[in-house]
Amino acid sequence: MCYGETFNLARKAVRSAVETGGESLCRLKKYLNDWFAEEKRLIVDNNNNKENFDPSQDEDPIERQHRGRPSVKWLKSSVEQPKSKKPTTQNKCGKCRVVGHYAPTCKN
Ligand SMILES: [Zn+2]
Repeated sequence: MCYGETFNLARKAVRSAVETGGESLCRLKKYLNDWFAEEKRLIVDNNNNKENFDPSQDEDPIERQHRGRPSVKWLKSSVEQPKSKKPTTQNKCGKCRVVGHYAPTCKN
């Protein structure tokens, strides 16, 4: 959003400092170095915060679980899924409430 403005400002500042020369250029350089130092510090702070919120220690146990356990449980659960689905998807008539057919095909 403010890329253009910042770029223009920086270009203006550099050109002005170059035109003035001498101390002005040195002062701009000092400002920019200060800015870089501050920016670096902020980036490091952000990284530290991220590491605190998402510690890498939690990733190890999960990985060990995946490695240690065979894929039998995963296969079993995938087999069990259709079984547990059947009762809920069984046709139940809305008219007579008998399981096995829908209301449109109800003969009662
Ligand atoms: Zn029915």
